[in-house]
Amino acid sequence: MSHTWIKKPSHTKKKSTFKCPDCGAACRISQTKILSATYKEFYASCSSDKCGGRYVFGSEPVRVLTPSQTPNPNITLPLHDHNQDTSPSANIEKEQSC
Ligand SMILES: [Zn+2]
Repeated sequence: MSHTWIKKPSHTKKKSTFKCPDCGAACRISQTKILSATYKEFYASCSSDKCGGRYVFGSEPVRVLTPSQTPNPNITLPLHDHNQDTSPSANIEKEQSC
């Protein structure tokens, strides 16, 4: 199974999208903190018993690829510059599979 950044089935429940920065194992999210309309933090612990690391991951949208049909008036996100992105996969760092 190869991961691509474009096609991710959004309705498939995935346990976690975060990997331990130290050992690379999947992290289990124990708590989600919503800090603003766009910014969330995830409290996660590494699933590896040997590692035992715990981390706070941040998640926020950085740019808009396609504007929403129902935009949130409280947020303003910069538009993605499509002109500088002629080959979307060229500079994307692919998610490593373990
Ligand atoms: Zn770990």
